Amino acid sequence: MEIIRIPGEMQAMAGKILHQGKSIGFVPTMGALHEGHLSLVRRARRENHVTAVSIFVNPMQFGPSEDFYNYPRDIDGDAEKLRREEVGILFMPDSSLMYPEGFSTCVDVEGISGRLCGAFRPGHFRGVATVVAKLLNIVKPARAYFGQKDFQQTVVIRQMARDLDMDTAIVVCPTVRESDGLAMSSRNAYLSEREREAAAVIFRSLAGASGLIESGIINVERIKGFMHEKIAAEPAVSGIDYAGVYDPATLEEPAATRDEILLAVAVRIGGTRLIDNMLVSLRKER
Ligand code: AMP
Repeated sequence: MEIIRIPGEMQAMAGKILHQGKSIGFVPTMGALHEGHLSLVRRARRENHVTAVSIFVNPMQFGPSEDFYNYPRDIDGDAEKLRREEVGILFMPDSSLMYPEGFSTCVDVEGISGRLCGAFRPGHFRGVATVVAKLLNIVKPARAYFGQKDFQQTVVIRQMARDLDMDTAIVVCPTVRESDGLAMSSRNAYLSEREREAAAVIFRSLAGASGLIESGIINVERIKGFMHEKIAAEPAVSGIDYAGVYDPATLEEPAATRDEILLAVAVRIGGTRLIDNMLVSLRKER
């Protein structure tokens, strides 16, 4: 595995690979890798000639009171995991090279960036869209892989890629979960044992809501009420940013019944903010 730290070197390497007629599959991450990340890596490996993974804890997507400085970092462990997956390139740029003095261009995907998590994390999706645009320009992938776990992020990035005519296919992969349903996340490492147990309530609220919908209850307020009640009953939950039913395309509360709806949750357990979601089909299977 080649480890590259300089954006210009990564760009040159990508150019060389493309010149050989090979495709690059790219997985952008912030490191502290777990099976969720590795599922993206495996898919990228299957579908491309060369797999590139980036590890970059992007300061631009963290708010001033968020966990940028404490964000879990394990470069040696991560590199070992990626070697085992036979990844070709690990791109690990320094922040000073990604945002040199005088840096002044941002990508703002208007509308959807302000909903759900965007309402609680102002500027977050501007940071995400900007860094992903930069990474796609540096790595030049045919396909880039993202997890459904961060559903809003996938909607923002797809919109950006469409609006800016980016020549990379955005591939969204299923959420990988622990045995009790908790979505894998680097931030799960912040949870105490008690909090970790309590965090399973997020998945239970999604699964319960999905069950209600499957039984024919598609009243948005009722489902939202069910989710809030279920989550609030768990004493370790210190706050609910949002929990409810949304249109997967616009991320707004759906005005009309659609084929598919998004159940999405963001909660705080102790000091840790966790998100999760589930897509539910409203079309009756025959
Ligand atoms: P992060 O390192 O948290 O920025 O995540 C990097 C990529 O991995 C993003 O596209 C995430 O959506 C994806 N990811 C994180 N957790 C999971 C998971 N449990 N299952 C699938 N993909 C995930």
